[in-house]
Amino acid sequence: MTELTGMTCGEITAWIREQGYPAFRGKQIFRWIHQGADFSEMTNLPETMREKLKQEAVAQPVRIRLERKSPLDGTVKFLYELLDGNCVEGVLMRYKYGVSLCISTQVGCRMGCRFCASTLEGRVRDLTSGEMLGEILCANRYLASENVRVSHVVLMGSGEPLDNYDHVIRFLRLLKEEDGIRLSLRNVSLSTCGIVPKMYALADENLPVTLCVSLHAPNDEIRRETMPIAYTWSIREILDACRNYIRKTGRRVIFEYALSDGVNAGEEQARELASILRGMQCHVNLIPLNTVEERNMKGITEDKVRRFLQILQENNISATRRREMGDDIEGACGQLRRKTINSSKGE
Ligand code: SAH
Repeated sequence: MTELTGMTCGEITAWIREQGYPAFRGKQIFRWIHQGADFSEMTNLPETMREKLKQEAVAQPVRIRLERKSPLDGTVKFLYELLDGNCVEGVLMRYKYGVSLCISTQVGCRMGCRFCASTLEGRVRDLTSGEMLGEILCANRYLASENVRVSHVVLMGSGEPLDNYDHVIRFLRLLKEEDGIRLSLRNVSLSTCGIVPKMYALADENLPVTLCVSLHAPNDEIRRETMPIAYTWSIREILDACRNYIRKTGRRVIFEYALSDGVNAGEEQARELASILRGMQCHVNLIPLNTVEERNMKGITEDKVRRFLQILQENNISATRRREMGDDIEGACGQLRRKTINSSKGE
């Protein structure tokens, strides 16, 4: 089966011609796909053609298997099902400026961060560019009755986007195709645990996405306690790669910092973080660590978050505390998937 979802309009056109159809059908199909339609809904194609295409190709490789809407803030958690039965998660959040969707880039993850639920069973496989796009298309269909669409995308679901580099880049390029969903790359954020060579590569792609880096520690010693990747690349190397990204793209970098009591959240760590980031065009996003049942790491009290934030700000580091959304619906990465898989296993 050919997955058309990850193809550009030009590629679909070439493919449809190989199937013996006129070229203009390519654009029609491309448009339908980006509207989230399956072959049976492509009403301007002849019935026989739709039937034949169904045998040869896939238009929508993702479907929503489960959705949970928070009565508190309207956040929706999706469990997406892929054609091979694997599941990944997505979270849709509503802001004043639009609708933001958090998407997954891999089934599972092999980075092994101690606090993260997505990595507990390693990486199962990479998502294709079409599957990543499919996550957005499903969410847009879900939103259709409200007459809104996804306006912002964050690559912060399960998986390490820079560990699936080629598919992620292809996916990002698809977002700006002329007849596609046309989501501005300025509204896209990519989050990495810090795969340094790929951060340099990304800076050269000429894609104006916001780079987010999961730092979570002010020095390598603390970072190594929770993030195995810290044994491969030092914070110094990561910050150099960030400076390069800022220089090449003109965009500030965002550092994510999940606070965990007794690990990285003391006043001393706040001062150290401020000192390593001084003078950099960046912003720090503080996140109180979400406790994951399987992980023996604690969150933090509101007072301590405030103190940490205050120290950063006193040192002229731009920082905010990330608003928590969807806490009541297993909003944290990997949690809903695990719950669903485990309960279907009878655990
Ligand atoms: N692999 C990428 C993107 C996926 S994770 C990365 O590492 O950035 C998205 C963010 O959620 C990362 O900053 C990750 O460190 C954070 N995260 C994972 N588990 C968390 C938890 N239990 N509480 C708070 N943040 C968590």
